[in-house]
Amino acid sequence: MKLATISDNGKIKAGMIMGEEFISCDEGKNANTAVLAMISSGKVSEWQAMLDKAPRKKLSEIRILSPIPYLLRDMICVGKNYYAHAKEFFDSGFDATQKETIPSEPIIFTKAMTSLIGPDDAIDTSIDPTGSVDYEGELGVVISKTARRVAKNDWQDYVFGYVIINDVTSRELQKKHNQWTIGKGLDTFGPMGPYIVTKDEIDDLPSMQIQTLVNDEVRQQAEVRDLIFDIPTLIETLTLTGTLLAGDIIATGTPVGVGIGFSPPKFLKSGDKVTINITGLGSLTNPVI
Ligand code: MG
Repeated sequence: MKLATISDNGKIKAGMIMGEEFISCDEGKNANTAVLAMISSGKVSEWQAMLDKAPRKKLSEIRILSPIPYLLRDMICVGKNYYAHAKEFFDSGFDATQKETIPSEPIIFTKAMTSLIGPDDAIDTSIDPTGSVDYEGELGVVISKTARRVAKNDWQDYVFGYVIINDVTSRELQKKHNQWTIGKGLDTFGPMGPYIVTKDEIDDLPSMQIQTLVNDEVRQQAEVRDLIFDIPTLIETLTLTGTLLAGDIIATGTPVGVGIGFSPPKFLKSGDKVTINITGLGSLTNPVI
C-alpha cells in the first residue's frame, strides 16, 4: 500500500495511491492526522478493505502533501552513514565535530518537525542567511509500534514502511552552531513524500537505489546496502536506551554527492529543482526559491 495525504481543492483527505489514482479513505475533520492514526492503530487493512467502495480522484486533479503532515515529534536522523559521504564531508572542512572520518557509532540527531513540507512545496533558501543550502537524499524508515530494546533480528516487526526524505541543510549554520539542530531545522528544509510504502511492497531493501538530481543533473546515486550502520543496527541502537513510537521517522543518512562535496561547493539557489528517486518509493521533487 501507498499511504498518502492530499489536498483536493483545499480539502484535506487521506488514503491510498494506486497507479494514477488517489483512493480517499478518510475525508473527516481529522484527515490531516489519519495516516499517523492508521499506523498507530495497526489497522491499515481497514483502508485496504475500502478499495472497491471508496471515492477516487485522478492524481492530476489533486495536490499530494507530506504523507504525515504533522509528525508526532521531530524526525530522528543519522549523520555520516555512507562511507564515501563521510569522507566527502570530512574532506570539505564543514564538519565541526570531526574527530574521525568514519564514525565508530551511529551519529544521531533530530530534525525539527516544523521543517516538514510535501512534494512540490518550495525549499525557501531566503531563510538561510549564509547562502549554503544543501540537499541530502535519504531513505526514511517509518516505525510501526512502540519499540524498546529491540534485538537486531526482530527489527522488521517494528517497521511499518518507507518514505523519501530530503534532509535539506544549511552547511554554514551546521558548522557554526556545532550541533546540527539549527542547520537542519529551518522551515521548509524537511521535504517528505510522496507517500509511505508499506514494507510488504519492498522485495529487496539492500538493492534499493537512491538517486538525487538537481536540475536533472544526477548528483547522488547509491544503494541502501552501502549504509555504514544498517537499519537493524539503527533500530537496535535507538531502542537500547530510548523508545521509538508508532509513526516515528528515521532518516537513515545520505550518500556521497552532496553540494559541499564539490569544489567549489554546489549549493542550492533560487530557481533550482531537486528530485529524489528511490526504488519502489516514487519520486520527491521540490522547487527551490
Ligand atoms: Mg542527513
